Amino acid sequence: MSKIKKTFASYDAAPENTSHIDLKAQYDLFINGKFVKPQSKQYYDTINPATEKKIASIAKGNEKDIDVAVKSANKAFESWSKTEPKERAKYIYRIARMIQERAREFAVIETMNGGKPIRESRDIDIPLAANHFFYYAGWADKLDYAFPNRKPKPVGVVGQIIPWNFPLLMAAWKLAPALATGNTVVLKPAESTPLTALKLAEIIQESGLPDGVVQIVTGFGDAGAALVNHPLVNKIAFTGSTEVGKYIQKAVAGSNKKVTLELGGKAANIIFDDAPIDQALEGIVNGIFFNQGHVCCAGSRLFVQENIADKVIQKLKDRMKTLIIGDPMDKNTDIGAINSKEQLLKINNYIKIGLAEGAEMYQTNCALPSQGYFCKPTLFLHTAQSHRIVQEEIFGPVLTIQTFRTIEEVIEKANNIPYGLSAGVWTDKGSKIFNLTTKLRAGVVWANTYNKFDPTSPFGGYQESGFGREGGVHGLLPYVHF
Ligand code: NAP
Ligand code: MG
Repeated sequence: MSKIKKTFASYDAAPENTSHIDLKAQYDLFINGKFVKPQSKQYYDTINPATEKKIASIAKGNEKDIDVAVKSANKAFESWSKTEPKERAKYIYRIARMIQERAREFAVIETMNGGKPIRESRDIDIPLAANHFFYYAGWADKLDYAFPNRKPKPVGVVGQIIPWNFPLLMAAWKLAPALATGNTVVLKPAESTPLTALKLAEIIQESGLPDGVVQIVTGFGDAGAALVNHPLVNKIAFTGSTEVGKYIQKAVAGSNKKVTLELGGKAANIIFDDAPIDQALEGIVNGIFFNQGHVCCAGSRLFVQENIADKVIQKLKDRMKTLIIGDPMDKNTDIGAINSKEQLLKINNYIKIGLAEGAEMYQTNCALPSQGYFCKPTLFLHTAQSHRIVQEEIFGPVLTIQTFRTIEEVIEKANNIPYGLSAGVWTDKGSKIFNLTTKLRAGVVWANTYNKFDPTSPFGGYQESGFGREGGVHGLLPYVHF
């Protein structure tokens, strides 16, 4: 098998120098173990949202490329599905190791292409992506144990469509369980953040994974739609907007395709008067400003108990003044660039809507870089449950604040939205935590912490946040039938 470097990359040094990063000027599609030109011969520019400068040309895959990719996956399925589970595990483990060895390079590319602070790419996205491969490598030869007396079989060719907010991590969430269970995959990255998926394609090639087991087809929404509609695809795993999720549900209706959808969210982060306030404050800040708020489980609605509201809001404003907004490649940066111009316009439009709805806005007096897509961290006070900024996902660093008196009131308000992905609870009382975890309609409820992820824990939502779970043993289920 091919080269695996002996050393592990260290995570401590912040990679401010990007000159050593190995990036090509042009990237092709990864199909059947090779990089191939798109049939249309068309490429598009992928940019750095912090500088607005082009990084590379990316192949614009279309329906014809998807067809070739799906057929490769279908052919490879014959032997991959029969490969000894412990042999499959070796490849997945090897991919995990290779991500770990190149963690620093991956982190720099993730930050260049997506705008997130380098500290987050380096400490969270990339190590967690490697951990997902490690974790599911371990499951490959234990499936009979996970599903006793049920003989799990792979579903076949899986189409995976991922968003731009955690590009490598989402690829790992999707690929690792699919491969462990013996499926073959066609993955379509988001158009604005294809680079770490293409680096992963290089690793997959180098790992010796048999040709056709994984294809990575870059392109736009039409390529995603072609994947959804292809008759040889047996399952679709999607993470992205509720709008596209609904389109996918309609498109597969009447077919035998399995579907899992991980869609938007509008999480309540609830702080009671008996909470450890300073700890909660960090959870509120992390909940909404982590990854510029481009997080489906972002704690974007703060509920604060009325008798501590003034104190909490003042502390929050003071804490926001200390946040550093700017160059994502600087290791001190807390809030990097908004992922795209389109997303910045969308966030700014919601800020206008909030003002028009009569909510009171607070932003710190920080200067934003003159180039790139940046947004000030923003609070909205005096919001009403009916406001659009309270009901709709903004996907940016914008927090709405509501107050409450009783636990019944906050449960009612927290649940009174179309989404149900996650929630946070801050209190000193275990009984309140148990009460809320059963009554909040959310797939994940964090207590006295926020945004904690682990490959062993299931993640997913209710209602307009989608269905199906990823992570843990639950994350294997969508990829098998019995
Ligand atoms: P999106 O349009 O749903 O995109 C997600 C993925 O689906 C991308 O790879 C996208 O390709 C692809 N896609 C687009 N149209 C498709 C179609 N008709 N059929 C199949 N695949 C299709 O999301 P977005 O444009 O990146 O972001 C829009 C909003 O979605 C955000 O503002 C946010 O509210 C939400 N969002 C949620 C999450 C989450 O984690 N739950 C993540 C990202 C975004 P292209 O990239 O080429 O469009
Ligand atoms: Mg889109």
